[in-house]
Amino acid sequence: MSRIFNFSAGPSSLPEVVLEQAKNELLDWRGSGMSVMEMSHRGKQFSSIAEELEADLRALMRIPENYRVLFLQGGASAQFSFIPQNLLGDKTKACYVKTGAWSEKTIKDAKPYCDAIVSASSESSHFTTIPDVSSWEIDTDAAYLHYTSNETIHGVEFNVTPDSKGLPLVCDMSSNILSRPVDVNEFGLIYAGSQKNMGAAGVTVVIVREDLLGKCSKIVPPVFNYAEQAKNQSMLNTPTTYSWYLMGLVLKWVQAQGGVSAMEQRNIAKAAKLYQAIDTSDLYHNPVDLAFRSRMNVPFILADESLDKAFLTAAEAAGLNELKGHRSVGGMRASIYNAMPESGVDALISFMQEFERTR
Ligand SMILES: *Cc1c(COP(=O)(O)O)cnc(C)c1O
Repeated sequence: MSRIFNFSAGPSSLPEVVLEQAKNELLDWRGSGMSVMEMSHRGKQFSSIAEELEADLRALMRIPENYRVLFLQGGASAQFSFIPQNLLGDKTKACYVKTGAWSEKTIKDAKPYCDAIVSASSESSHFTTIPDVSSWEIDTDAAYLHYTSNETIHGVEFNVTPDSKGLPLVCDMSSNILSRPVDVNEFGLIYAGSQKNMGAAGVTVVIVREDLLGKCSKIVPPVFNYAEQAKNQSMLNTPTTYSWYLMGLVLKWVQAQGGVSAMEQRNIAKAAKLYQAIDTSDLYHNPVDLAFRSRMNVPFILADESLDKAFLTAAEAAGLNELKGHRSVGGMRASIYNAMPESGVDALISFMQEFERTR
């Protein structure tokens, strides 16, 4: 068996020990005589997996009692449409901050349901920065303020939690959840798909403050009505059981690493190394404002675009995969989520330096 370093933006690398454990438990989960895939979601074995999953996420993120934790389907993308429908209530407006491709899509998907006000945008800088929070135009009549804490495609990340001027703060944390501590109390709702920092694809975590529940539009399918799912422990219908189990294993792994603060220290070290290698080279370039460079997704372009193909081919031959940048940005992108070991970043840096030297 030979495993590559996988720099994919998602689905992405998983900790090898998690995969080993899943393999060991595949046919017989802890003496149950069956695979987690074969268990009834209402049975006592799977119930224990589900309860531990929620308890572990609550512990890792220090989620307060007055927040409900939901595990839904449809990806983060489904929430782009269901957040306005769940949270608007009597209001007709919601504020959005546009800092890259994902927040742009969030705004587009909200428009059928509300007046989606763009409070700030960094589009004119080609999404290489985050507009100063003091310049944001926040309408206090809006139902909430939405932002994307890490722009997976543009490699731009918030370095603080913004002040929402009293509006419930809603955040898409799909690509940086569990990579740094956040104070959940500052948020009305946090959501994130599982396939970047939390496991395999198939689960969307929604952490929502209780007082925001109960305003859902009647046309929303019950499985996407947060209050209904909260009442039913996210089991209004059959959940993606195996993805829940894998997320549980990843959360245990994060705990074993020392929790979210320890992950943050590792992520700071990994990202700093990679950006330093980019900044000190003549071949590679990252256009993002220093203060807002993502620790999770590191886009970089080659000074000579005609070398892109050779770079990717040689990288793959060296066991460094999925480095091609998103088509909208071009160049390369290295996604270095929690599960990417420092040795993977070191191998990438050595490869980049060797490629520059011998091109
Ligand atoms: C990947 C991603 C999404 C979309 O996730 P899906 O599971 O494909 O719906 C949304 N937002 C951000 C920030 C992402 O990185």
